[in-house]
Amino acid sequence: MAEKTCSVVEKKVIKVAIVEDFKLTRVGLRCALNENEDLNVVAEAEDAIEGLKLIERSHPDVILMDLGLPGMNGIEATIKVKEMFPESKVIALTSHDREEEVIAALSSGASAYCLKDIDPSKLADVVRDVAEGACWIDPMVSQMALNSFPKVENIGFLPNKSQSEGRVPLTEREYEVLKHLVTGKSNTEIAKELIVSVHTAKAHVCSILQKMCVNDRVQAAVKAVKEGMV
Ligand code: CA
Repeated sequence: MAEKTCSVVEKKVIKVAIVEDFKLTRVGLRCALNENEDLNVVAEAEDAIEGLKLIERSHPDVILMDLGLPGMNGIEATIKVKEMFPESKVIALTSHDREEEVIAALSSGASAYCLKDIDPSKLADVVRDVAEGACWIDPMVSQMALNSFPKVENIGFLPNKSQSEGRVPLTEREYEVLKHLVTGKSNTEIAKELIVSVHTAKAHVCSILQKMCVNDRVQAAVKAVKEGMV
C-alpha cells in the first residue's frame, strides 16, 4: 500500500509590493491583498525611485505599479523594474482606459493591466495568476488592446490578397506619428511634437510597423510615401 500523502498542498506566499502615490489607494490595496493568506504586501512606496529601492530590498514576486506617479511615471518605472529585476512581475494599475496607455504599459513589460475599480477579490486572483507567469488585461480595455493588433488580412495570412488593396487601417494618432516618421524624426522628437512620453511614441511606431507589415521605420517611411499614405 502506498504511503499516505498529504492532500493539502502548502501554498507559497506571494510577496507583493505596491507603488502608488495616493495614500488611501495604497492602504486600500494593502488591506485588500493582506486579507488573503497567500498574499503578503512586503513593501509600499509613493513614488518610483522609492519603489525601486524597496523592490531591491524586499524582492517581491509581484509589483502593483500605479501608472500616474509623480516624477518617473509608472511606465518608465516598469521598464526599469524589468531591467533590474526581470523575475518580478508587474501589474499596471490605472484609473484610465486610454488605448495609448494600455499599449505603452504592455510594451513596457507589465504582465497585467488593471483598472482601479477592479473588484478586490479579482485583483487577488490576478496577482496569483501573474505570479505564475500569466498575463491579464482588464476586460474593460481588452477589446481596445485587441484592436491595436493588425487585422489578419494585413499581416499576410490570407492568400491572394493584393498588397496594394486598400489602406492599412492606422488610427488617426498613428497617421500623425507616421507623418513625423516620414520626415526622419526619432521617437524622442515625435514624443516632443505630440506631447506624449517617449514610450508612447515608441508604442505607436511599433504598432505602425506591425500594421504596415514592415521591419523598420525606413521601410515604413518608404511604403507610406509610395502608397500616398501621408
Ligand atoms: Ca497616481
